[in-house]
Amino acid sequence: MEIRVIERVLKVNDELALEVRNRLREAGITAINIISAPGSGKTALIERAIPALRDKLRLGVIEGDPDTTRDAERVAALGAPVTQINTSGGCHLEANLVLRALDALPLDELDLIIIENVGNMVCPVNFDLGEMWRAAVVSVPEGHDKPAKYANLFRKTDLVVLNKTDLLPYVDFDMAVFEADLAQLNPGVELLRTSCRSGDGMAAWTAWLERVCGESPARAPG
Ligand code: MG
Ligand code: ZN
Repeated sequence: MEIRVIERVLKVNDELALEVRNRLREAGITAINIISAPGSGKTALIERAIPALRDKLRLGVIEGDPDTTRDAERVAALGAPVTQINTSGGCHLEANLVLRALDALPLDELDLIIIENVGNMVCPVNFDLGEMWRAAVVSVPEGHDKPAKYANLFRKTDLVVLNKTDLLPYVDFDMAVFEADLAQLNPGVELLRTSCRSGDGMAAWTAWLERVCGESPARAPG
């Protein structure tokens, strides 16, 4: 019984995701869905991208969080159009919420929308938001075993960002295991090593955003 309910929820979500995707296409906007655990540095990566892309792309942001507008405030402080979705405790974003968030953004004035999902490595994976690209972020202190444990996320992403590389000397992070697990789950997936503190990999991160903005997605939606 419960399985049927979940299937129904996902079917409705897929229809709404298609609506999001169509609206974005009409407006000529590329959307990226960033998924990770809480605290991996999603917002910091967005904060770094805003000034770096300022003269190249018109960037807007949709922030997903269970509560508060803290992330949206951080983004707004840098001058990017942003809208915050509060899920009232909900653990993932759904397409209906993104559809409403689009109404609050100046779509005619944007080339790229970054959607920061609720910090969670499990259920956001199952909810298509109408994005063209997905990025999975994992930070060094979370451990090298995250791809193997959260295989679904790492299988279905177009980019993996290994963040907080400045902490590598202080934790037991086995890069070889991390890379081998990732290669097995998603052969050829692009991996960026970044640190928002040291600036390591920031040029590659913003170059990736710039590149996918002009490219059609490699991944089928869903
Ligand atoms: Mg955040
Ligand atoms: Zn959830």
